[in-house]
This record gives sequence, structure tokens and C-alpha cells, in this order.
Amino acid sequence: MSEELKRRSEMSMLEMAHHFFDEAANRLGLEPSLRTLLRHPKRKLIVVFPVVMDDGSVQHFEGYRVQHHLVVGPTKGGIRYHPNVTLEEVEALAILMTWKCAVAQIPFGGAKGGVRCNPLELSTGELERLTRRYAAEIAPIIGPDIDIPAPDVFTGEREMAWIVDTISMHHNGMFMPGLVTGKPKVLGGSEGRDTATGRGGFFVLAETLKRLNMKLEGARIAIQGFGNVGSSMARFCAEAGAKIIAVSDIKGGIYNPNGIDPIALKEHERKTGSVARFRETEPITNQELFELDCDILIPAAIENQITTANASKIRAKVVIELANGPTTLEADRILHDRGILVVPDILANCGGVIVSYFEWVQDRAFYFWSAERVDRRLRRFMKSAFDRVWEMGQRERTDLRTAAYMVAIDRVARAARARGLYA
Ligand code: NAD
Repeated sequence: MSEELKRRSEMSMLEMAHHFFDEAANRLGLEPSLRTLLRHPKRKLIVVFPVVMDDGSVQHFEGYRVQHHLVVGPTKGGIRYHPNVTLEEVEALAILMTWKCAVAQIPFGGAKGGVRCNPLELSTGELERLTRRYAAEIAPIIGPDIDIPAPDVFTGEREMAWIVDTISMHHNGMFMPGLVTGKPKVLGGSEGRDTATGRGGFFVLAETLKRLNMKLEGARIAIQGFGNVGSSMARFCAEAGAKIIAVSDIKGGIYNPNGIDPIALKEHERKTGSVARFRETEPITNQELFELDCDILIPAAIENQITTANASKIRAKVVIELANGPTTLEADRILHDRGILVVPDILANCGGVIVSYFEWVQDRAFYFWSAERVDRRLRRFMKSAFDRVWEMGQRERTDLRTAAYMVAIDRVARAARARGLYA
């Protein structure tokens, strides 16, 4: 079977989200009523809306916003623009956000949004009109106390600023920075948000290695993806004395067993648009990166990268999932059986949503923290999330993914029980 066929034959993200939920819920002995409540999203909104294009024609776009649950606070999650976005994918990502927030113990449920479009084919004006209209369409269910969007694939600070402006206009012009996170700092964005996921991943890696009696200094690390998350993770690891021996992106990869300087590599990537052809490195493919002799493997690009096609060839001792859903269920089992420790996405990459929470807290107080304060608090949140998951894993004699889901589901379930049922 070709690698692409194998990849497609494996479970969808939603099936995986349900599988991990069921496994952890069984171990927790979760009662049937809560099982149904927490397995399905509370709200799924589909909107079809018109946008005036630059040539004067009108095109219709389909968008989504899914809110998983509102048990402990408002929902939180990004908005992605992509030609392949589906309601099912958005639902899976909303569920994933719920468990991420619960592992981190921040008072949010999960949400996600998306618009099916090709942002690379739209002009800035078209993107602005699309964003403002989508914001107006989902306005009835978003707000600082109900659902707080953020950037995701192909959206960023610019789109968040347009959304704040649009919704604020719907409220007599009242500036509402707490409405979305990931904003420009001048509009209430937080210090440290740009590097938060990599920084949080670095804290998790350091804690993991401590438990395994492994040293970060001199550890050989391979990273797939050199965007926001992969490049900041590489920098923090190199600063701590680890050796980044391989990096790849969508255009290819590079290898140097003596180590690659991530700051110089970022500079090269900015100039050329890729990590490929960086000085003093050998070219490798994304597949070769996964099979390298290294200590730590960090998928930080896209989903479904560790599959049955390559899981049995991975030589790293530890996998830190900075991307969302980089390992298929079947591959996860292979890695587990081979004794490779996988630190799951909902723990490893929750630094981003933690600093988004900090941003929302600062916006509500209109009082802003220093970069040092953000970093100190992020470290504290990440360490306690890691400790909770590790202890659950030890107590239940299970892998860290099941342990993380158990920690998360138990927290939301306890809150739901305490609230009781309004009938
Ligand atoms: P990004 O767009 O900044 O970077 C993505 C990187 O992955 C780029 O280097 C790109 O070239 C590479 N890539 C894309 N497709 C690839 C492919 N097919 N093969 C190899 N490389 C490929 O994105 P990001 O913000 O760094 O996010 C990376 C991952 O981390 C995503 O899975 C995202 O969902 C997850 N994540 C991001 C955050 C955040 O705060 N940005 C938070 C949590 C999780």
C-alpha cells in the first residue's frame, strides 16, 4: 500500500477524538449521561454568506463555528481559512481544544471556526470583507463571556483586528479587546504569545527528560516544521544546549549531525522561503527526518505525519507532539509497543492557549503584564499540567495520552456534576 493510501485508510481526526475520549471515559467509569454530553459539541453553526469580490462579482462562502461545551467558562479556539475545511474537522478541533484547556486547567471549553476558501487566491480587500462578514455571521454566538476566537491556519493578528473592529461596531463602537486573542499588541495582544507554544513545549520537554533521567544538554533533536512553533522550539532547545540535527518544512529538509543554528536558519528561511539549502547541511526528505538516529523527535507541522508507514522506523526515544494530531491511532500503538514515549498534543502544545488565556485576562483588566511575568506564569501552568498528567499515567499505568485525556475529562465531568442538570 502506498504511504498516501495508508495515511488515508487511517482514522479521521474526529474518529480519533472520539476514540481517545471513549478510552479515557471507560477507564474513569464515566456515567452514560455525561458521556453523551461531553462526546458531542453543544453548538454547531454553519453560515453561508456573500462577499463582494474585487471585480464586482459576488461569491458565496461556507463557514463554521463549533462550541464544544460551556461548563466551566466561555469557549476558546482558532479560526482557519482553508479550501479543505469541513464541519467534521472543525468539530474534531473544537473537542481537542476542550481537552487542551482542561489539561492546562484554564477556565475555557473548546471551540473552533473555519471558512472554506483559498486565502492565497484572495486579495487583501477580499480577505477583509470575508473576515468582517464571517464575524458578523457568527456574532450571535461569540463574545468575551461566551466564545473567544483566535488565529489558526492562514489567519493572524490582522484578521483578529478586523474581527474586533467589526464586532465593536455592532456594540455602539465599544472597544472589545477580550473578544478575540492573538491580536496585535497595540490592540491588547499579550507579550509572549508569538512564542508561547514553542516555549510551553520546551518546558514540557525539559520536565519529560528529567523524569527519564535524560539530559537536554547535548540531546539530538529533529524537528518537522519550522514555522511559528517549530522555529521557537528549536531556538529554546538550542539555547539550553541541545543539538538541532535536522529540520524540515513543506519544501524539504536539512541535516547536520553537529547541530544547526536555529537563529541563522530563521534568517535563511526568511530570505529564501524555506529551510532547504542552508549552509553546511545535507538535504533530507521529510520521511528521512522521521527515521533519523536522534533522541527527540518533534512533529511541529501538520496532522497525520507519524503513520503505520513510518512508526516502526522511528529511532527517537521521545516524541513531543507540538502539531495537533501528528500521530495516527495505529502509529501511536506501534510507538507505545516499541517503548517510545509520546507526549501528546493536548499537553505538549497547550502553551499557546495558556498565553491566550493570559491575554484575555489582561484585556478584561485593561492592565498588561511584562514579558517576564508572562513567561514565569506560563512555566508554572505548564509544569503543573505536566505533573498532573505524569502522575495520572503512573497511577493508572497507562500512556501519557490516555492519562492526559483522563485528567481533562475528569475535570470537566466534575464541574458538570457540580452544576447538575437544569431540566
Ligand atoms: P506555521 O504555519 O507557522 O508553520 C508550519 C510549518 O510546517 C512550516 O514550516 C511549513 O512549511 C511546515 N509544513 C506545512 N506542511 C508541511 C508538510 N506537508 N510537510 C512538512 N512540513 C510542512 O504553523 P504553526 O503555528 O507553527 O503550527 C504548527 C503546528 O502546531 C500545527 O499543527 C498547529 O495546529 C499546531 N499548533 C500551533 C499553535 C500556535 O500557537 N501557533 C498552538 C497549538 C498547536
